[in-house]
Amino acid sequence: MNPTIMKFGGTSVEDASAFRNVAAIVSAGVASRPVVVVSAIAGFTNALLASVQKAIEGDARAATKSLDHDLRRHISIARELLKADSCAAFELTIAVARREIRQLHKIIAMHPVTHPPLQDEIVAYGEQLCSQLLAAVLRENQLAARYVDARRCLRTDDSYGNAGPVPETAPATRAELLPLLESSRIPVLGGFIGSTGNGVTTTLGRGGSDYSAAIIGAALDAREIQIWTDVSGVLTADPRIVNKARTIPVLSYQEAAELAYFGAKVLHPRTIQPAIDRRIPVRVCNSRAADGASTLIVAESEAAPQTVKAIAHKNGITTVQVSSARMLGAYGFLRALFEVFDRHRTAVDVVTTSEVSVSLSIDDASALPELLPDLEQLGAVEVEEHRTIISIIGEGLRNTPGIAARVFSEISDINVTMISVGASSVNLTFMVEESRAAETIKRLHYVCFEDERAGSAAKINIAEEAIA
Ligand code: ASP
Ligand code: MG
Repeated sequence: MNPTIMKFGGTSVEDASAFRNVAAIVSAGVASRPVVVVSAIAGFTNALLASVQKAIEGDARAATKSLDHDLRRHISIARELLKADSCAAFELTIAVARREIRQLHKIIAMHPVTHPPLQDEIVAYGEQLCSQLLAAVLRENQLAARYVDARRCLRTDDSYGNAGPVPETAPATRAELLPLLESSRIPVLGGFIGSTGNGVTTTLGRGGSDYSAAIIGAALDAREIQIWTDVSGVLTADPRIVNKARTIPVLSYQEAAELAYFGAKVLHPRTIQPAIDRRIPVRVCNSRAADGASTLIVAESEAAPQTVKAIAHKNGITTVQVSSARMLGAYGFLRALFEVFDRHRTAVDVVTTSEVSVSLSIDDASALPELLPDLEQLGAVEVEEHRTIISIIGEGLRNTPGIAARVFSEISDINVTMISVGASSVNLTFMVEESRAAETIKRLHYVCFEDERAGSAAKINIAEEAIA
């Protein structure tokens, strides 16, 4: 049987009780041949990065001292969960790590220009220590866990702080992990870290442990990649706005990507690309409620083509409308317009056009004061701040007629602008005033997910839940 990757994020290993939950989850999943990938304990990566800054500023002593609180957190987890001898061994590991980090801080303080590779070397202790501690805790729970140095598996280029995997990763990962799996061991490795061909430590960029899990899963042709975090999968809406928001049982990769833009607590599409390429299902689960709901993310053909899956939103949006008679029948206008945004390095999200005007939404409007005079060369400009983008997401939008009509008739008293049926055709997106966003979302959630008498959307949702 192909292995299952179980990746645990920082909050899933933040303290001794979180480690206990992880041990219970891995124990329950032994039959699925787990490979465990783990982040640094919550907050430690930030602390390690901040320590490097202190060293760059010249204070190596303060840099190392600033880590003592988090190093002690590791020790107290070990003392609570490990027997005396393995606890002593781990305390020694911590002492050695502190000494090594101390040396690195000193080098950085003396030669700040050397810091990029040394920073990765230091930051990697977060995942290294956590994976060693977790392997010990799993062994304490009668599991045949083996710590594996992830740098032996994940081979990368030398873009320190944001390294990318190279093709040697797959054979290296198989060579390291398959023998363990064949002898029924459970490999435990840190996410986020790798090494170059010369053996220099690298990191993949913040949040990179999910990416590691997907890369390792692809190399081993995993049957499933599980991302254990602190939320119950992906929800139908923001639970702070809709108290009846619930877990979406199945999503397609594309729906998940659309949701990610809205900052829904869901994987970044780039990080699961290796899984998407090999059509490996990715499951988002809650390590604090392991028996609770989870979301399975699969290829489109396997995702039930449910009408509406989620209502996502993003506040703080600015819209810009440029109107000009020059647009009529002319070419080159749109190019000129986008060049302005390009020059000012401002990303445009939603775009709608009519014969004589173009509306655009931007999420980071900090360059607007400099950008406006350039836009005014092209036509009359109108800016509206404090807008919210609302996006209704679901594969079924591709082929279910009448959804737009239902949505807009439900909110006919709310001023809606910039309606766009996403180019991806799995979303229907529009803008409302921020002050009316919560009410809009609540009402749409009701028609799409809560109203049992109503038409297709709700019914299909219920049918799917029964299957899942
Ligand atoms: N520990 C790393 C970070 O905080 C990687 C991860 O958690 O995915 O960015
Ligand atoms: Mg993390």
